[in-house]
Amino acid sequence: MNYHQYYPIDVVNGPGTRCTLFVSGCVHQCRGCYNQSTQSLNSGVPFTQEAEDRIIADLKDERIKRRGLSLSGGDPLHPANINDILRIMKRVKSECPDKDIWVWTGYELHELDEYQQQVLPYIDTLIDGKFEQDKADPSLDWRGSSNQIIHTFTL
Ligand code: SF4
Repeated sequence: MNYHQYYPIDVVNGPGTRCTLFVSGCVHQCRGCYNQSTQSLNSGVPFTQEAEDRIIADLKDERIKRRGLSLSGGDPLHPANINDILRIMKRVKSECPDKDIWVWTGYELHELDEYQQQVLPYIDTLIDGKFEQDKADPSLDWRGSSNQIIHTFTL
């Protein structure tokens, strides 16, 4: 998996103070995509073991308490990203069990195949669906257009 950006401290992508990873690769081709440069799987830089360890260390860092990890892109649920995303999620839930995981995907929940669905048990909140320019609304929390749905799997 490649990624574009990692923010160790982020207060914009999800509730509270978080760590946020923007991965590479997205097939959805939304008109007005806010992150066009992330669409190619080969864009960005390789997601290394070091980068993964850094996320876990940041989530554990008590000096700046993070509420959780946000995974965006690109599309974290692009089939080519699932292996790495699943490994990160499992580590977060086993090593940082009090942290939540928020995920943004261009797929709608019902479109996820069995392979992609492997990640669902580890997600606390999933924001799904393509960005639709004619439904864009900057006043919405956590999503760009009103067709996108916030699925809360845990309280
Ligand atoms: S799902 Fe997101 S990253 Fe992918 S094309 Fe749509 S807006 Fe861009």
